[in-house]
Amino acid sequence: MTASERFAAVVVGAGPAGLTAAVQLAEAGIRIALVDAGPRPGGQFWRHAEESGTRGQHDRPALRRLLRELATHRSAGLVDYRPGREIYLITGGPGERRVELRPTAAVVPSEGESVIAERLLLCPGGHDRQLPLPGWDLPGVVAAGGAQALLKGQRTLVGRRVIVAGTGPFLLPVAVGLARAGATVLGICEANHPGRWLRSAAAVAGAPGKLVEGAGYAAGLARHRIPYRSRTIVGEIRGDDRVRSVRLDRLDRAGNRVRTGIAELAVDTVALGWGFTPSLELIMMVGAATGLGVDGSLITEVDDRQRTSQPDVWVAGEATGVGGAALARAEAELAAGGVLDDLGRGSGADIRTARRANRLRAFAAAMHRAHPVPAGWPDWCTPDTLLCRCEEVTLAEAERATSELAARSARQLKLFTRCGMGWCQGRICGPNVARLARRAGEDHDDADDLRAMAKRTLAVPVPLGELARLSDPGRRPR
Ligand SMILES: Cc1cc2nc3c(=O)[nH]c(=O)nc-3n(C[C@H](O)[C@H](O)[C@H](O)COP(=O)(O)OP(=O)(O)OC[C@H]3O[C@@H](n4cnc5c(N)ncnc54)[C@H](O)[C@@H]3O)c2cc1C
Repeated sequence: MTASERFAAVVVGAGPAGLTAAVQLAEAGIRIALVDAGPRPGGQFWRHAEESGTRGQHDRPALRRLLRELATHRSAGLVDYRPGREIYLITGGPGERRVELRPTAAVVPSEGESVIAERLLLCPGGHDRQLPLPGWDLPGVVAAGGAQALLKGQRTLVGRRVIVAGTGPFLLPVAVGLARAGATVLGICEANHPGRWLRSAAAVAGAPGKLVEGAGYAAGLARHRIPYRSRTIVGEIRGDDRVRSVRLDRLDRAGNRVRTGIAELAVDTVALGWGFTPSLELIMMVGAATGLGVDGSLITEVDDRQRTSQPDVWVAGEATGVGGAALARAEAELAAGGVLDDLGRGSGADIRTARRANRLRAFAAAMHRAHPVPAGWPDWCTPDTLLCRCEEVTLAEAERATSELAARSARQLKLFTRCGMGWCQGRICGPNVARLARRAGEDHDDADDLRAMAKRTLAVPVPLGELARLSDPGRRPR
């Protein structure tokens, strides 16, 4: 058991945001720790399989440059990079936070460890957002992000006959990637209509790189003959021991179902994606303020240098609102600049980076306006549709809690039904439970409902031995 090392700054997450911030801080001569749950730097965006290096990655030159600089700063002793470590707990107060890490499950077991952070720069990213629908608990149903992660990280195809459904531009690379890898992609079902982008033409024009990216995916759809159906959802997933087929339904402009059964397709895999939602465990753990984002998600509140309501904590990337890798990197530059200013080593606000971040934020807001989660989703479900898969709570049980037990908040729904109390601790069902609570009661504070479902005492599940180590640091965990 080694003593906890102290760092002027600890960066959490080695995705586009964390990597960018770590390199910038090290460039300024600050010795930092960079902690990441993944086995390799890159996060969700650059999730490369080891043997393939950076091949097939988006924005490969940027990734290569960051990896090169990370290696240089590590050899110079400026970056203590700790991959394969999940942070499960942060205790203490400003200037003296104790960060507890333990090996990520897939990595060779070793002892837990901790570091002391005088400043924290949190870049934990986000995760897939999901909606319940009949049959979504059948084997063969996967998150669109999961399908992409398996393909990029493990070179594994989730299925042979796949339908990709939900909303948002992310469905495009998933469908094209699966088709390119050899799957038959029977279509993309997009719940909204692409014409909604026209409402935000100025914001779209301000991010020309995104237009080029979109055009590339459109060409990919054409090349692989992947049909794109707008205002269409997978209304029911059918099967026995696994997925066999899907029924497609039509939505109106407001996201209400207007026709059931416009088509039925035989598939073995359904990849569902309703965008992403920020990962806020660590942010809430340190007591930083949160609020509602444009898409109705709970996000970290930050100032124009990415500083949170906690003076020693900065946050960059998806955790301040989902906006993609380019925005994550721009925010990371602002945050690292803020940390350097705090250390007396900075050169003040970088106006050009701030402008770039603002343009990308405007694009992200346009994306959220063009691809909202349809408010009518509870009406697509049947009474026995599972709302919380971990605790097997059905929609009917949740509705009974509101009608018979007068549950009026997400917290009450959770207490009455146990939804959100299982393995995923509400990461999947949390926003949906909050939505049902809003439907049941008036005068709702949506952010409070989301906070009730997002607060976790520990950020990730840990063995009891790890907790014992906290009270008896000499003890070796098993
Ligand atoms: C599953 C998935 C697949 C995606 N695929 C694509 C894609 O193909 N194309 C695209 O344009 N966008 C994709 N995105 C979105 C894109 O990844 C993000 O826009 C971008 O990565 C944001 O960068 P970030 O640094 O904020 O977060 P991330 O890249 O998510 O990085 C966050 C890092 O923090 C680490 N972390 C989180 N919590 C902890 C903890 N408690 N302890 C230690 N480490 C922690 C994570 O392991 C991760 O490495 C995907 C997102 C997800 C969730």
